[in-house]
Amino acid sequence: MNILVINCGSSSLKYQLIDMEKEGVLAIGLVERIGIEGSRVKHEATGKEEVIIEEPMADHRKALELVLNALIDPDHGAIKSMDEIGAVGHRVVHGGENFAQSVIIDDKVMEAINDCIELAPLHNPPNIMGIEACQELMPNTPMVAVFDTAFHQTIPMANYMYPLPYELYEKYGIRKYGFHGTSHKYVASRAAEMVNRDIENLNIVTCHLGNGASVCAVQGGKSIETSMGFTPLEGLAMGTRSGDVDPAVIPFIMEKEDLTFDEVNEILNKKSGVLGISGISSDFRDLEEAAAEGNERAKLALELFCNRVKKYIGAYAALMCHIDVLVFTAGIGENSITIREQICDGLDCIDIRLDKELNQVRGKEAIVTKDLTATQILVIPTNEELMIARDALELVKK
Ligand code: AMP
Repeated sequence: MNILVINCGSSSLKYQLIDMEKEGVLAIGLVERIGIEGSRVKHEATGKEEVIIEEPMADHRKALELVLNALIDPDHGAIKSMDEIGAVGHRVVHGGENFAQSVIIDDKVMEAINDCIELAPLHNPPNIMGIEACQELMPNTPMVAVFDTAFHQTIPMANYMYPLPYELYEKYGIRKYGFHGTSHKYVASRAAEMVNRDIENLNIVTCHLGNGASVCAVQGGKSIETSMGFTPLEGLAMGTRSGDVDPAVIPFIMEKEDLTFDEVNEILNKKSGVLGISGISSDFRDLEEAAAEGNERAKLALELFCNRVKKYIGAYAALMCHIDVLVFTAGIGENSITIREQICDGLDCIDIRLDKELNQVRGKEAIVTKDLTATQILVIPTNEELMIARDALELVKK
């Protein structure tokens, strides 16, 4: 069966068509600038040339129409007709406390996803637009929702509660939800395969280090703690997001700088993190280059980023007693040799010893541990699309 995986942002849409028999990608693409001037589809069927389709797209429905046409196009398509798509797997960012697993989408599920808009006002609305557009264009194809939060629903209450008045949890659902769940779950299960051990008996720490970044403690295959919280703003310093700051800073800067809620949100989400510290860029390639040229603030941003990852790893080592496997994934985790080295530097105290020679890898699976009896350190390219497609396949097979 072929599964179409859709990941809808507010003005973008990423897709992959996957043949589940071989778990091979048949086509991959990206729609940019939906609803904005200059919209286009970048589409590539495996074994064929990439094509760029430039056409106005007022909304996600029009974008999806173009994607589906590209998929069945006789010249640059991957399949003959839409009947060859067995199901669509949608990435949905927030499932609240309603979803601990992926589900087939029906009216009730749509209602519950709509209820979570309040918790993810930037993310859930475009996810919903993507689902609705697909439902209109492919009314007979099953749709599956795969939630970024679902994997973290196993986190125990003592870890997910904030020490705030309990009523705020009861009234508004204020608690840690965690994100990047599909990625953490994928790399944890792949890690167990790579070290040839049963995941049930492993303590794994997964570091998803991309533009958004989070760390997760996976014990016996279940998430028991993660660094992102009520929103994807908590935890590590990120490209442009602050991560953990003293909450008292917020009213303080609001008063001093005469900021509105929207303005302070913009600072914390878009102007902070390594961009805020360095004043140069949110991209680690730019920062590494600037640091190598002696830029002090770029060096500081990188050091701060690595120290925070290190602190979370240490905290999760304490939480689980011992880490059997440490995984690096996502743009930075998969590609940055120096960041992996800087994070692991000085962690011998908890049995983490990176082999600098083996660590010279980018974008491919590797075991980069010095001492095979210590914590295994793995580089694993994440594959959220495959994970979404696997869940969709399993559900529609049932
Ligand atoms: P992601 O959000 O997972 O796509 O990761 C994006 C981030 O990965 C970019 O902002 C870069 O900072 C980082 N990245 C990608 N390639 C490299 C590389 N070769 N070296 C360092 N950082 C990289």
